[in-house]
Amino acid sequence: MAFVFDPPARPTLPVRGTPDLFPVHRVYCVGRNYAEHAIEMGHDPDKEPPFFFQKNPDNLLVGKDFPYPPASEDVHFELEMVAALKEGGTNIAVDDALNYVFGYAVALDMTRRDLQGVAKDLRRPWEVGKAFEHSAPCSEVVPASDIGHPAAGAIWLEINGERRQEGDLNQMIWKIPEMISYLSGLFTLVPGDIILTGTPSGVGPVKKGDHLHGEVEQVGTLDLKVV
Ligand code: MN
Repeated sequence: MAFVFDPPARPTLPVRGTPDLFPVHRVYCVGRNYAEHAIEMGHDPDKEPPFFFQKNPDNLLVGKDFPYPPASEDVHFELEMVAALKEGGTNIAVDDALNYVFGYAVALDMTRRDLQGVAKDLRRPWEVGKAFEHSAPCSEVVPASDIGHPAAGAIWLEINGERRQEGDLNQMIWKIPEMISYLSGLFTLVPGDIILTGTPSGVGPVKKGDHLHGEVEQVGTLDLKVV
């Protein structure tokens, strides 16, 4: 038996300090997980609990510049910390959830905000706004065995040297163990699943030529240009 054509390569992320690769399964993203960002998007963080959507694993972009996507004139940056799972399961207890985490990374949840806005207005799904090619630029993964499980620390983004997003991991409405536990009640989590854990306030548009520099204290940096 053979494949009827060559299957696409499995998406992977490099692991810091090693020649090894983290094989990616699903890419979960949480919405509105920092209160200030929920407010800037016109929502009340006290009334609306966070919720999840997905990007496609092959939307990850590693070590390359971000090509401005088609069909949009309002592409936004959202800098986020990533939790990368080494174990899966269902109904994972909050107290046990960090044992499922292999490590952490820094990613951008790039968003075609105009198309997302149309989808919201028409009560359609968000894929056209969120799950497009190269929409998830991501750094290497740093193992939790090296840095522990950061629950606090600065998260920020500069564009062309100007600070645009700034927050602290301790401002997450839903903490990482709570997200893992909640997701595992909805889906069967699998080793290789990654979770983009939400963005602080300050999101905005990019244009070709912009240089984006994102950083999460202890976790790493992400540098790229919009081309
Ligand atoms: Mn996001």
